[in-house]
Amino acid sequence: MDLQMYHKFNTKTKAIYVFVLSFCFILISLTTSAQEKTYTVVLDAGHGGHDPGKVGYKKFKEKDIALKITLEVGKQLEKNKEIKVIYTRKTDVFVDLYKRGKIANKADADLFVSIHCNAHNTNAYGSETYVLGLHANKRNFDVAKAENSVILLEDNYQENYKGFDPNSPESVIGLTLMQEEYLDQSLQLASIIQSKFSTTLKRKNRGVKQAGFVVLHHTYMPSVLIETGFITNVTEANYLNSKNGQSKFAKTIAEGIGKYLMQLELNTVEDIVIIDEVKVDENIIFKVQLASGPKKIETKSYNFKGLKGIERVKVGAYYKYYFGGTSNFSTVKECQKRAVKKGYSSAFIVAFKNGEKISVKKALKTP
Ligand SMILES: [Zn+2]
Repeated sequence: MDLQMYHKFNTKTKAIYVFVLSFCFILISLTTSAQEKTYTVVLDAGHGGHDPGKVGYKKFKEKDIALKITLEVGKQLEKNKEIKVIYTRKTDVFVDLYKRGKIANKADADLFVSIHCNAHNTNAYGSETYVLGLHANKRNFDVAKAENSVILLEDNYQENYKGFDPNSPESVIGLTLMQEEYLDQSLQLASIIQSKFSTTLKRKNRGVKQAGFVVLHHTYMPSVLIETGFITNVTEANYLNSKNGQSKFAKTIAEGIGKYLMQLELNTVEDIVIIDEVKVDENIIFKVQLASGPKKIETKSYNFKGLKGIERVKVGAYYKYYFGGTSNFSTVKECQKRAVKKGYSSAFIVAFKNGEKISVKKALKTP
């Protein structure tokens, strides 16, 4: 190899080295930045593009107000270094409902929060938050129907929603099964947000509700749909359309999400006391809740990933499945760890005193 050739070879090798090295560097920095964020929250601004959503007082459009609030919620959440925010839309574009869920599933998100505005032909006002489920009454069905009718504007909707008819109350039933596993957590988030709406924001609390929303059906994580307020009510419409109102709604929603994630981190207990200091009280039984849903499942271990001693309790229209009943909190913590290891990643501890459900916090403080 003459000197010139050697030099050429050397430069080429160097270039390859530099290329490989920088590639590695990019990879490393990508993995570390992904690792830094503990939680991923998908924010979904309802409607968009050729779908204005509801049109209210002074022709205020739901899609515009929902987007503004959603972007602001994201801004607030991003202040927390632990939270990564993904939007289903950041501009005035139309996104198919099933694609919104896909975005969240692909991101393996911890939460899916869909933001909307309500409308009614009366002077109704106030905020309500929905989780996926069977509508308890016509009013809940109507809210879901209005939100679901969006799919009629999509191409190939019959194919993508497998014959689902947004106008038929019966057509909704099949939708609820997918979210079963996340119902408790979705309810928890929904009630935190609703209570913040009434206490912090002084909105009328219309409550946590269930109905068959298509957009919630496609996600594999706790999911809620917020109807911030009514754009058909003059006072509320003006508030929702104002910068002040939007930023206050956004701040409250972001705080609610933050509180939920914090509770999740602490296994739904606000402040777990040093466990060993707690005296064992025979009247109190701790259990690990594995799942809940409308399906009645045989409590055989093969139905519960090999876990034995499963207990099934009917609460209203739902069945709750518990594992590891004990008066000893350290023992139940171990049971929870086992359940998580078996794949029940969202298994959490519940407490009962003389058969009545109480908060774990209260159970631990009982002398
Ligand atoms: Zn909507």
